[in-house]
Amino acid sequence: MLPQFDDTSVTVAIVGCGGFIGSHLLDAILERTRWRVFGVDLDFYRVQHRLNHERCEFLCADLADPAVVERLAKFPLVVNLAAICTPSRYMAESCEVIRSNYDHPAALATACARSGAWLVHFSTSEIYGRTAPDSGELVEDSTPVLLGPVTASRWSYATAKLLAERFIAGLSGLKWTVVRPFNFVGPYMDFMPGVDGEGIPRVLANFSTALLRGEPLKLVNGGKAKRCFTSVHDAVDFLFALFAVGADPKRCGGVLSQAFNVGNPANELSIAELAGKMRSIFAKVRGVDVSTLPEPQVVSGEEYYGVGYDDSMRRLPSVVKADSLLGFKARIPLDVALEESLSWFVKHYDTGASS
Ligand code: UDP
Repeated sequence: MLPQFDDTSVTVAIVGCGGFIGSHLLDAILERTRWRVFGVDLDFYRVQHRLNHERCEFLCADLADPAVVERLAKFPLVVNLAAICTPSRYMAESCEVIRSNYDHPAALATACARSGAWLVHFSTSEIYGRTAPDSGELVEDSTPVLLGPVTASRWSYATAKLLAERFIAGLSGLKWTVVRPFNFVGPYMDFMPGVDGEGIPRVLANFSTALLRGEPLKLVNGGKAKRCFTSVHDAVDFLFALFAVGADPKRCGGVLSQAFNVGNPANELSIAELAGKMRSIFAKVRGVDVSTLPEPQVVSGEEYYGVGYDDSMRRLPSVVKADSLLGFKARIPLDVALEESLSWFVKHYDTGASS
């Protein structure tokens, strides 16, 4: 059972505390509870404003270090957000992707099974694999998984995440909950290529970068794939709903040994439609006419990402389980989430360094 939110004697561990989701979770824990946080990451730029906070301790490390894994498992709750989760890296760095998404979580899960810590592990909606354009709702415990050809190294990430889920579920004595995020968006997501990262970030950061630089948005294979973009604030609210049940002695057992989709099915749209919306929002933020922005360009997946790229054509979450076990439903509409993300991106990066 988890401590109550006003318990000052407790420390929770967040692995990947300096990342996109971790930074929002850290803020929420400090603002909504009296818990202490032990945060592990290799980079803390997103949480600089918390570095001297009296209820935080940070460690610059990763799960490759067995001593760090043992230390983490001593806390009552360990949230594991650490992962390589940028599709452009799945082809060129597939072994690193597998280490970060299988080897490291498996070591952490093994240590938590020994210590009795509750492991909240972030998996991915990508484990549902190479979904077709007409795929229906993806249901946590019943939708079958079809991954693309073994030669398509795009699936290195999904394969590793899926194996980690199976390992966690099979590990005797482990108290676990798995979260499958559906395209979370918000401030501090990813990076701007050439400024604070290299390569191709996920679509939102990529489109935001192109808009700021006056370049065309690139529609991979025509932008026909669909996603349900979900605000990171909904993701944090999901975690608080989970923690609240975890702290309730009568209900805490109900969230263990469960995988939850976390996504907003009402926010579904194609990537081509996303490009249209982001162009309009950018034009509004900048006070220019949308017709002055370059038209989107179609590119092939292999040309854009490299050999081995493949795609999920639709990712529509069933959200029945989170609603029935936690009373949680994502509530932030697409336009609000996109406008917040894009406005943040423009403000954060538009310093002249981007051009
Ligand atoms: N995509 C695109 N243009 C870009 C980046 C991505 O058309 O500049 C497409 C990509 O092929 C996929 C979708 O947008 O169909 C979402 O890609 P993302 O990298 O954000 O992550 P995914 O949801 O595939 O994990």
